Amino acid sequence: MKISIGHLYPKLLNLYGDMGNIITITKRCEWRGITVEYDPIGTGDTIKEHDLYFIGGGQDKQQQEVADELYKNKDFLLAERDCNAVFLGICGGYQLFGHYYQPFYGEKLRGISLIDAYTVAGKKRFIGNVTVETEFLTPSTLVGFENHSGLTYLHGETKPLGKIMVGNGNNGEDKTEGARYKNVFGTYLHGSLLPKNPAFADYLIELALEKRYGHKIKLQNLNDDLEINTHNSLVGKAY
Ligand code: GLN
Repeated sequence: MKISIGHLYPKLLNLYGDMGNIITITKRCEWRGITVEYDPIGTGDTIKEHDLYFIGGGQDKQQQEVADELYKNKDFLLAERDCNAVFLGICGGYQLFGHYYQPFYGEKLRGISLIDAYTVAGKKRFIGNVTVETEFLTPSTLVGFENHSGLTYLHGETKPLGKIMVGNGNNGEDKTEGARYKNVFGTYLHGSLLPKNPAFADYLIELALEKRYGHKIKLQNLNDDLEINTHNSLVGKAY
């Protein structure tokens, strides 16, 4: 078996070890004999079809460059979403999955509307550890690190990834973190996110395999003692 990963604009958006998410998916596939095709996508490139797309976080300046590029590929990426491709966007990338991001200074950046959400920069920066309680993972928690001033608000069929136990998440008001619509996932959790949340990594891999092969595939278990210990040591931790 194999999956293909399209990494959107890694040279521009890659903060706090976002690349670790790609490494985690790749290793967890390889350990099970699943081949991974990795395609880093740069500005000006024509985007090919993939099972899973990843985009990281970054500063407003890099986000601006990426926003224009992404917008040129909006129709293609929306069609990919509707074919059940898996998307994972972190922080700045997550913000661009919505309709727009309004920075504190300057013009609104157009998003690609993969999810029904918008983001507006707030006056405060949210920095610190986050614990989220989800309803779709076992163990149910997600842990990570946030650093953003953007406040994200979800609408319609776009639902949060989970409920904030520690930290601020989407906007610091409604106790939600991240977003999901179809197989599009967005989150403020850097860290890297996936090395210490192996259940989420496997969840995404299973969806990517299902997209490629058209039926559900259950992954074999791995020895995750180290990953689970790391995860557990961060659950509920504020600093
Ligand atoms: N510029 C965005 C914000 O501060 C994204 C930051 C990030 O990706 N870490 O809200």
